Amino acid sequence: MGIKNITIVTLGSHSALQILKGAKDEGFKTAVVATPDRLALYSLYKNFIDEIIEIPSWKDFPKLEKDLIKRNSIIIPHGSFVAYLGMDENKKMKVPYFGNKLVLDWEENRKMQREWMEKSGIKVPHRFKKGDKIDRQVIVKSYGAAGGKGYFVARNQKELDARLKTFEEERFIVQEYVIGVPVYFHFFYSPLTKKVELMSVDKRYETNVDSLGRIPAKNQRGLNIEPSFEVVANIPMAVRESLIADAVEMADRVIKTSQKLISPKGLFGPFCLETIITSTEEVYIIEISARIVAGTNCFINGSPYTYLNYDEPMSTGRRIAREIKNAIKKNRLKEVLD
Ligand code: AMP
Ligand code: AMP
Repeated sequence: MGIKNITIVTLGSHSALQILKGAKDEGFKTAVVATPDRLALYSLYKNFIDEIIEIPSWKDFPKLEKDLIKRNSIIIPHGSFVAYLGMDENKKMKVPYFGNKLVLDWEENRKMQREWMEKSGIKVPHRFKKGDKIDRQVIVKSYGAAGGKGYFVARNQKELDARLKTFEEERFIVQEYVIGVPVYFHFFYSPLTKKVELMSVDKRYETNVDSLGRIPAKNQRGLNIEPSFEVVANIPMAVRESLIADAVEMADRVIKTSQKLISPKGLFGPFCLETIITSTEEVYIIEISARIVAGTNCFINGSPYTYLNYDEPMSTGRRIAREIKNAIKKNRLKEVLD
């Protein structure tokens, strides 16, 4: 099937603009599925969005299944798929989907993700199990991709116990809070070339934790400010080359381990290693995001790192479309779809 007959579709949110711009640049038809509040935004980009498919709310997305299949659509998932549709709905849909849906469980379930990280031999912050004595500052995280929403920190056992009494989430983990700077490395693994590519690097701008330093500690006293981690934006980074060497090696191991644990395909396409780097240059991985992350939106026009490999602007969104195109050319489309 020629690429001109295939429509690349995604939900109107998160990194949809990047994904659809990339798909158009690679020669595909494009469509965005959007709720009424987002129509104004996506209609600004008719230059690369061929069609806006309106739905009353996100939960109506699965009803489009037959229609999307008829149009020869390929869905590109991003952070909103599990957040807005739920895991089961997302898995059930039969529209061809770029990626491996089996990876979703390993991403969402924090215990499974931990097993994946440990088997990859990467450094992870200590996790406290139920009943463990808390002997340092911890961060409490709920499950699923929520952009840091609803996390909190506690300095000791007493604070943790007090906060958990009013915590509404049932599924969460308690993790050592690592003092350092957050750095997010974005990668792409191609099952066609069997190579991991470094795409770009960002840091997140999180409210309110990133603004606490603006007020001296003495002025914060008495204000009863709690740090929170809700992401508002992303900031591009160029990282020390020695640290990139470490990150690339870790990314390779994460992919190889996924091929054993989530056999045979493992993780492929875009993913992110979310790290905290300490003052002794230890790189802790706090999370693997097994999909395109929103930090790649800083690089719709390519990044310093993609410029090393491509003579044209190559975003992660465009790289996904390129992979689909290459797979079609090689008659290997099945390998990149679920
Ligand atoms: P939105 O497009 O703002 O509706 O976000 C959709 C989902 O993606 C939500 O679960 C967000 O928490 C998550 N998300 C959106 N933007 C970012 C970002 N810059 N970094 C991390 N997660 C994000
Ligand atoms: P995540 O949802 O895991 O990407 O975490 C969101 C944000 O919470 C990160 O960008 C960090 O600012 C913070 N965070 C998460 N885990 C830790 C940790 N173990 N130590 C310190 N900060 C963390």
